[in-house]
Amino acid sequence: MHTIYGVDAIAAAQVLSEIGYLLRQDEKERFRAKAFSQAAWSIALQRPDLDALQRSASLTSIEGVGEGIARVLADLIATGQSRYLNRLREQTGQPAHDDESQLAFGDYQGDIHSHTDWSDGRATMLEMAEGARALGYRYLGITDHSPRITVVHGLNAERLLSQSQEMAEVQKKVDGVTLLQGIEVDILEDGALDLPDEVLEILDVVIASPHVKLRQEPAAMTERMLRAVAHPQVDVIGHPTGRRPGSREGATYDFEAVFKAAARNGVALEIDCDPARMDLSHEMARLA
Ligand SMILES: [Zn+2]
Repeated sequence: MHTIYGVDAIAAAQVLSEIGYLLRQDEKERFRAKAFSQAAWSIALQRPDLDALQRSASLTSIEGVGEGIARVLADLIATGQSRYLNRLREQTGQPAHDDESQLAFGDYQGDIHSHTDWSDGRATMLEMAEGARALGYRYLGITDHSPRITVVHGLNAERLLSQSQEMAEVQKKVDGVTLLQGIEVDILEDGALDLPDEVLEILDVVIASPHVKLRQEPAAMTERMLRAVAHPQVDVIGHPTGRRPGSREGATYDFEAVFKAAARNGVALEIDCDPARMDLSHEMARLA
């Protein structure tokens, strides 16, 4: 038994985030799921001293934490475990608490998929770079959206150029972390990419993701994904099915054929661990 304290706010955030993910499996629970995910984010970002808040009975002073979530946190602080999470895991057939493998975050060298306020991220590039340095990262890929995703002001060639100028400035201020300029480029209906090859060629990282028309008929979807995977500039396929557990099924295609082609071409398949996605799923990750 241990007490959650200090940096273990992250452990608490992980618990809330997993609860959010599991609740999403049930359509009726999607609002509660969202509340848990948001509370997880707020704890991960603010790192409150949970022990002290528990002692003063003020866990609900944390942004996004209501009575219900406070009870889950209190249980976690007192016992080092969440009975609520354990029950959900059991109900949804997840691995038991002792079966999980541990990731050593110290070995983690960096991220190549991140968004900034150039598109739909909340933080500036400088904040992201400083965050990466604080985590001990050696590199950080800045991969905002491409133009097709108009709702988030996706980047065209011109804006990518201005972004690269900002990146040079930010890089001067943040040493120890190598910034990589990339894009999360949309895979269009026919498998072409949302930016010309001449633009993709000069970027350090190209993540190609399916965002729209995910309900294409499987044969056409397979062709679409195979074309993206065969593109010489593509390094990674982002959230390869586009699923949203609890609300959106995601694309169906010949996964084996696409994964094999990805392996042949040295293209990585992302496991997007946003609890609203978990894409690839654990079953698909095993197949890949
Ligand atoms: Zn995406």
